[in-house]
Amino acid sequence: MNFSLQNITRKNILTLQPYSSARDEYTGEASVFLDANENPFNAPYNRYPDPRQLALKNQLGLIKKISPDRIFLGNGSDEPIDLLFRAFCEPGIDNVVAISPTYGMYRVAADINNIAYREVPLEEDFSLNADKILAATDSKTKMIFLCSPNNPTGNALNQTEVVRIISKFNGLVVLDEAYIDFCPEKTLLTNLEQYPNLVILQTLSKAWGLAAIRLGMAFATPEIIAILSKIKYPYNINQLTQEKALKMLQLDDQKAKWVETILQQKAILAKELIKLPNVLKLFPSDANFILVRTTAAKMIYQELVERKIIVRDRSKVALCGEALRITVGTEDENRILLVALKEIGKINGNK
Ligand SMILES: *Cc1c(COP(=O)(O)O)cnc(C)c1O
Repeated sequence: MNFSLQNITRKNILTLQPYSSARDEYTGEASVFLDANENPFNAPYNRYPDPRQLALKNQLGLIKKISPDRIFLGNGSDEPIDLLFRAFCEPGIDNVVAISPTYGMYRVAADINNIAYREVPLEEDFSLNADKILAATDSKTKMIFLCSPNNPTGNALNQTEVVRIISKFNGLVVLDEAYIDFCPEKTLLTNLEQYPNLVILQTLSKAWGLAAIRLGMAFATPEIIAILSKIKYPYNINQLTQEKALKMLQLDDQKAKWVETILQQKAILAKELIKLPNVLKLFPSDANFILVRTTAAKMIYQELVERKIIVRDRSKVALCGEALRITVGTEDENRILLVALKEIGKINGNK
């Protein structure tokens, strides 16, 4: 590998002079703040939040056993995904490579930034072939997007193949671990220091139960983190989100219990789903959802909607013919779904 961050960073980003906010220039303990044109009333929300989110990064650093200067926090994972394009990909010139099927935001962010998006299909069993990914790259490929466990397929990618891609590719490998808390396979975060070209994405939106507060994380070398921090909106993480996240991160055991419950419910749901006449196959899941091959995805989806139950129709997605993606809910929600599917199976197509 011959990776150089300098070489893959856009020239305008390398030379960019970032905006310096009032709270950037002064970070100590003062008692009279007359520097940011804030209203002196309505504390604490009259004040701009910490643009560097230091308290939150320190707490995350402890939980993830990683130095805070290797952490970028964004408005969901969507923000670091977009910033990676803006920092490293020259519109109209560069390209990225991604597995298919996968999470839809990578392509949307590529399209917004006018970056060619090259899809490489996974194998029929949704496994990853590193050679096929590497073969799709050329001198203009700046990033490779991998997602493990993958959405919508649910399976974790083989870590040896992932590492092979990271080791051989001269650009950035973005590994989205949004569902890693549900997965028996270990995060690559523990090995982050070995890989100068690896960006790991995680989020508080899934296992942590905080989709509403919008907090995504990117982990990488301090140099990559510095570039993302330089181009973000100065106050990208609002005060309410920082406070709520900090409180929640102190309840690490609560998250662990939720994950355990969800995994137990997933096993029960899977056992019951496969008995249904309108379910043909369950794809192996390392996440909090199951991709299910049905007899007639669109019809079943519509029938579920009639019953006020919403799942995700993925039947138009590559390799996902007649498949529905079902999130694991509470015991009650899962039972309601199963009863409805049974009923729908009686009216319509059987296997
Ligand atoms: C849900 C999900 C995310 C989370 O996105 P946020 O913007 O952090 O809510 C990221 N990646 C994948 C693959 C997902 O499925």
